[in-house]
Amino acid sequence: MKIKITLAAALLSANIMTLAQTTPAKLTPEQVHSNALVIDTHEDTPQRYVDEHFDLSDPLKGGQINLDAIHKGNLGASFMSIWVEPDLYKDHYARRTLELIDSVRTQAAKHPDQIKFSTSTADIETARREHKYAMLMGIEGGHSIEDSLGLLRSYYDLGVRYMTLTWSNSNGWADSSGDDTDASIPHTQNGLSDFGESVVREMNRIGMIVDISHVSDKTFYRAVEVSRAPVIASHSAARAICDAPRNMTDDMLRTAAHSGGPGSKGGVIMVNFYSGFISQAYRNAQIAQKSEVDKATSDLKAKFKAEGKEITYSDLEKLQRQMADRIPRPPLSALIDNIDHIAKVAGIDHVGLGSDFDGVSGQLPEGIDSAADLPKVTAALMARGYTAEDCDKILGGNLMRAFKEVEQVAKQLQVEK
Ligand SMILES: [Zn+2]
Repeated sequence: MKIKITLAAALLSANIMTLAQTTPAKLTPEQVHSNALVIDTHEDTPQRYVDEHFDLSDPLKGGQINLDAIHKGNLGASFMSIWVEPDLYKDHYARRTLELIDSVRTQAAKHPDQIKFSTSTADIETARREHKYAMLMGIEGGHSIEDSLGLLRSYYDLGVRYMTLTWSNSNGWADSSGDDTDASIPHTQNGLSDFGESVVREMNRIGMIVDISHVSDKTFYRAVEVSRAPVIASHSAARAICDAPRNMTDDMLRTAAHSGGPGSKGGVIMVNFYSGFISQAYRNAQIAQKSEVDKATSDLKAKFKAEGKEITYSDLEKLQRQMADRIPRPPLSALIDNIDHIAKVAGIDHVGLGSDFDGVSGQLPEGIDSAADLPKVTAALMARGYTAEDCDKILGGNLMRAFKEVEQVAKQLQVEK
């Protein structure tokens, strides 16, 4: 009897040991966030480097990205947006593109102990091992290539790894959601012209991610048809929640999730944090304010012209921020609603983060003032029942998977010739 009890006790304790080994202690949101590879696919900081001589070691000075915020937010990698304002830089898009690219590379070179300039998933992984922040680049707006595949390839050679086919302006070979209803602007027949299709194919071949943020719905569907690699939306939200034309319908979310050739694991939609895209209430208030903002903008442009000075993006941004600050910020839950919606409609493997930091005049949900606040997103997701594994995917895992696939497709296409 005694032996039996001892055996039972031994078996019981063995069971407890097995249980303890297979059930890890539940991680706190802080632990989940600090263990994760966090990737943000859209930040507009390069305008600041060029126009304000901003350095990442500076205080934020109204922005959302600097080394301190990157460190506090455990930001492992981000794509710096190379965005050329189409009116201000008319007739020299390539020059401005190159200046912005140079500004990113210069920042990385100035802080080699903290930043690794990166152009591949392997680089991102290396940076992570070295406890560095991986800095990548994406072009925002196909007008930067000035209808030249040679320029597209040159930008790739300088390190650019995605390109949104358009910004808010249609460019002759791809249409934008920003002006696709404007009859005075020439548009393509099928969403992409023949040249536009060759741009997408060349991006697949060289390994540049096709980014469909900003494009018209028609261009989106055509780009997905043409692309042999999965597409991403580097900074887009859900139209079912906020009816902005450059947000994505549920059908577009599902189509992006199934993009890529046969056997593809599909694309990823990275959620924009901009208040005007995540909250219908905010968007309505903004529409009500629009004529006032337009007038103030043209007045400021006229003032600069009269004084013989060149107006910059930062000047315009300051004005827009003053106007926007009058509208109440949406709650953080508005951002989480968008992530949650896309995770439900497109799938947990197809959603990520594309903040648009430094590009939205500070119009961000409550509690999100800089990259330092990114752990709050993880905490809010976990409060809604998302597991540590789900959070890893959303925070960066999904983007890594799609980016790796783009790299593999390029290798295959280069062999096929
Ligand atoms: Zn954008």
